[in-house]
Amino acid sequence: MARAENDTWDITESVGATALGVAAGRAAETNSENPLIRDPYAQMFLEAAGNGVWTMYLRPEELPAELVEIDPRFKERMQAMMGYTASRTLFFDEFFTDAAASGIRQAVILAAGLDARAWRLDWPAGSVVYEIDQPKVLDFKLSALEAHGVSPAATYVGVPVDLRNDWPAALRAAGFDPATPTAWSAEGLLPYLTASAQDVLFERITDLSAAGSRAAVEAFNNEFFSAESFARREEQIQLYREAAAKLGREDIAASGNLLYEEERTEVVDWLTAHGWRASGVSAADLLARNGRSVPSDLDDGVPQSVFVDARLP
Ligand code: SAM
Repeated sequence: MARAENDTWDITESVGATALGVAAGRAAETNSENPLIRDPYAQMFLEAAGNGVWTMYLRPEELPAELVEIDPRFKERMQAMMGYTASRTLFFDEFFTDAAASGIRQAVILAAGLDARAWRLDWPAGSVVYEIDQPKVLDFKLSALEAHGVSPAATYVGVPVDLRNDWPAALRAAGFDPATPTAWSAEGLLPYLTASAQDVLFERITDLSAAGSRAAVEAFNNEFFSAESFARREEQIQLYREAAAKLGREDIAASGNLLYEEERTEVVDWLTAHGWRASGVSAADLLARNGRSVPSDLDDGVPQSVFVDARLP
């Protein structure tokens, strides 16, 4: 299924399933020899969700031969994506830890998916973490955590609302205080929004941010959204769909593109023009910093993204 205005999803469907894909990356990293991050809850979510395409990360030894046949470097690609997911998780973990150390006690995680930071980070007393995502995604996550008797490490407030709707009203109704500095995160979100919805998102974040607020964003540059990159991605995904069809996995074979392949304002430029002090580090530099560089001859080994840290003076 491709995207539609006002589309909704469960955790195993459409954009919801991408949260399971990221959780699988975090679970695989946690189980690896020298993990960059530890997320003990990721595996729990995967077990609660059952089998699906997302389990590929966890059991790479079971990869169907057809996939390796059409892309001999498939395993390397998975390794690269694992380094990317781990580096991205670490970037946002450090962002929230630094913001808390600077005295910020209000955090908002946009498109939280199966992010378990409210449960696994060491939040100072008095911290409140708001999470926004679609209702069925948050329901799934909370049910899985409750079933295992896991309690949050901060005051947790789930705000089940679509980010294309009036989420600022829902956030305020849930207790969010716009007069207090906030740490915001947008991780694994922007390509699932249209270019105009992305602008509206940042306008709303800016309106709700008191002086001293911070934001961390996984932004994709316009090379990522270019027609050439899109064509390359589509060609590769089509090969995977064909392999899936041969394996009788009609669910994967019929999957559509979930991203809005539209060029958009670069996030650092947008934030800078709206009063934030923003800077970005490229994915390649972030991975290198963590000793997870991807071989330079592995085409599209990591997404063309920039990790943005922004502060409102
Ligand atoms: N931030 C999480 C992480 O990095 O683990 C989840 C990332 S996952 C790739 C994408 C998430 O964005 C999903 O949980 C999906 O439900 C959420 N999402 C995408 N578009 C959304 C929208 N319009 N409203 C609410 N949530 C949305």
